[in-house]
Amino acid sequence: MKPRLVLVGLGHGQLEILDRFDELQKSYDVKYIGGEEAIYTGAFPQVIAGELTDATVHLRQDVKPIASRLVSLDPISRVVKTETGEVPYDVLVLATGAVSRGVGLDIKPMTKEGLAKIASSDAVTIVGGGKAGVELAFACIRTKRHVTLYASDVLSDLPARVQRTIKRHLVRSGVTLVLRKYERNVLQDGLVLDASGVVPDGWWREARLAKAGAFIETDRYLRHADYKQIFITGDMASRLNGGVDAVRSGRHVAAYLLGDRRPFRERTSLNILLTLPGQALLTYGKWTWHGRLPNHVKRLIDSRYLKRFHS
Ligand SMILES: Cc1cc2nc3c(=O)[nH]c(=O)nc-3n(C[C@H](O)[C@H](O)[C@H](O)COP(=O)(O)OP(=O)(O)OC[C@H]3O[C@@H](n4cnc5c(N)ncnc54)[C@H](O)[C@@H]3O)c2cc1C
Repeated sequence: MKPRLVLVGLGHGQLEILDRFDELQKSYDVKYIGGEEAIYTGAFPQVIAGELTDATVHLRQDVKPIASRLVSLDPISRVVKTETGEVPYDVLVLATGAVSRGVGLDIKPMTKEGLAKIASSDAVTIVGGGKAGVELAFACIRTKRHVTLYASDVLSDLPARVQRTIKRHLVRSGVTLVLRKYERNVLQDGLVLDASGVVPDGWWREARLAKAGAFIETDRYLRHADYKQIFITGDMASRLNGGVDAVRSGRHVAAYLLGDRRPFRERTSLNILLTLPGQALLTYGKWTWHGRLPNHVKRLIDSRYLKRFHS
């Protein structure tokens, strides 16, 4: 009998694993739990900016989910609990992502309904001055009348001169930049978008996968530190950071499951965020490049990604 491999969640890493579904099926009895579509975070700001009509990625059509949600997990008896019943596993891959803090509309995970709400709001307040918050502010100001960005710091992990340039561009674009902690103002805020960072999902601690408030610890192969038959991809894992790592973690886990026993290679990720029309900010560690070329590169990467997983 083949080992039972259960894949949970349609995160970026899982899409990479599902891409090798046929190969995996030769060695495992594979089952998938999760949704049939998800929003690709790399491109949804472009939908808000009116540059793209859709950023939905789809589960491949030959894979049918056996349930739509993991409700809880028992790693001792190796059972996933879902809305339709219990699913036992020998090997488990988790790609359910981390979640927004709940300050306003959750942007993680983004949904079609969330995007529709943003599209229909003329005034938005974005909370958080990291890459996601800044990108959303630039995207929103192209289609909305009132955009406020609350941020104690703007892009604090980048050099001061880049921070100054981006702040100047934000303000000149029409974004109201409030350089302090967000305080709720029901009369003025409009739709509040929570870009203040992601936090652990509550069920991780209940399942004893992580300590309270902590991300999940893994070994160098992305196996859970205590439960070696559980692989952790994407934002759930403490050693991973961002969508590029999420994609790479899925590729790594797929290769591992198919016999390649090399450890996951950690490396600095390249990020590109939408800024002014036709421009983007590329970051690689502290190294940055703002201009038209990063925007072309971003479009190329995003259109390739959507071509792979959109149809
Ligand atoms: C505006 C914005 C822009 C970003 N841009 C970039 C970028 O340019 N580059 C970059 O590297 N990173 C970027 N990021 C970060 C990137 O989006 C995340 O790091 C990435 O989404 C993490 O992917 P993941 O695989 O962990 O899962 P996620 O993308 O979070 O997906 C998890 C999936 O699992 C599903 N799920 C959740 N719970 C369950 C459950 N219990 N059962 C079943 N399914 C479940 C969710 O619905 C979702 O479909 C951006 C983030 C934001 C918010």
